[in-house]
Amino acid sequence: MNRMEHAEKLLSLVEEGTSPFHVTASVEHQLVQAGFQKLNMREDWNLENGGRYYLVHNGSTLAAFTIGKKFAFGDTFRIAAAHTDFPGLRIKPAPEMEKEGYRQLNVEVYGGAILNTWLDRPLSAAGRVTLRSRDIFHPEIRYVDFRKPFLTIPNLAIHINKEINKGVELNRQKDMLPVLGLGVPDEEEKDEAFFLEYLARELQVEKEEILDYELGLYNTDTGDFLGMEEEFISSPRLDNLTSVQAVVTGIIEGERSDGVNLAVFFDHEEIGSKTKQGAGSAFLSAVAERILLSYGRGREKFLETFADAMLLSVDVGHALHPNNADKNDPTNKNVLGRGICIKEASTQSYATDSEAVAVMQQICEAEQIPYQKFVNRSDGTSGSTLGSIASAFYPVKTVDVGVPLLAMHSSREMMGTADQESLVHAVTAFYRL
Ligand code: ZN
Repeated sequence: MNRMEHAEKLLSLVEEGTSPFHVTASVEHQLVQAGFQKLNMREDWNLENGGRYYLVHNGSTLAAFTIGKKFAFGDTFRIAAAHTDFPGLRIKPAPEMEKEGYRQLNVEVYGGAILNTWLDRPLSAAGRVTLRSRDIFHPEIRYVDFRKPFLTIPNLAIHINKEINKGVELNRQKDMLPVLGLGVPDEEEKDEAFFLEYLARELQVEKEEILDYELGLYNTDTGDFLGMEEEFISSPRLDNLTSVQAVVTGIIEGERSDGVNLAVFFDHEEIGSKTKQGAGSAFLSAVAERILLSYGRGREKFLETFADAMLLSVDVGHALHPNNADKNDPTNKNVLGRGICIKEASTQSYATDSEAVAVMQQICEAEQIPYQKFVNRSDGTSGSTLGSIASAFYPVKTVDVGVPLLAMHSSREMMGTADQESLVHAVTAFYRL
């Protein structure tokens, strides 16, 4: 694939990946097309050399792995991880609010969203819904994506808030409620369950069947190429679908004849990862251990994997902003289009392990992949990512990489078109070499 094909592939994941559940389903679809077989934690695994497998964990986390044709000695594991979630707004239970002639939804903020970028956007909703079932311990699960915009959060006009260009503090409860319809003037005709009915209609079920849901709002924009030479991509959800797509392509294409290649797509990175389907769970190490148990190798062999396994944590980094260059580190300046970032922080908010960093640099040099090093300004902080968290539970050498990004956590972010190809190339080489 060439540069534009890698970019187009990313943008089709953005279009399909409208919730962590839909991102996971899209990853699953690509894996099935590449011949991966589905496993289940509740069943015995009968793995074979040369096999390609995956399993879904609670709908929004997925692990996939390939076993080398000559897997027998060394038993080295190479693991790449990315996250399926993105900051935004989530619909609360009993969300219907009807006041001042409008119908609105009660929502809460998920993760570190830049709130004002959610205003004046056509928004839709997607996620999963649980329905009544005969077996009370296994409710029926349905995915829903309305696909069309039906909500928006209007700004306040400048005439009413004359200070608006001096910066506006948005209250997460009061100012972020989307409008989705007009109220009815007649009190008697008021409908307390207008959203539940809308949702039931979409699912073609009775509203009484719906018990609960995890539904998020999403920006319905598709991605665009910008710049005079199409050198930029502007799109929703680049954090972290750029990494998800690179890891999927990497695990499919990056075959190795010995050892095990493992890819993990975790949910809940944007809220700290410390959940059952986040990177701060036992999921990764449970999958790694089960692979060896299926080969009749016990816990001792599993503990041995820590010595030579490696984790590549893939997530976006901060690019230098041309209007605010002084916000970045004075000697490590990351620019869009100039290659992937290898991210370091002595606080370990990014996994910082010079041995793992050196491995990554040698991979990039061997494959002529451009890279840049990222560190924070000493008087600033940036976010963290799943690398250090996952490696606390599966203690192997770890490095954080990802494409540089502008406007991180905006409802529309910006990256360099060439960087997607570099990232895919880097993850594939990490698995293959
Ligand atoms: Zn991220």
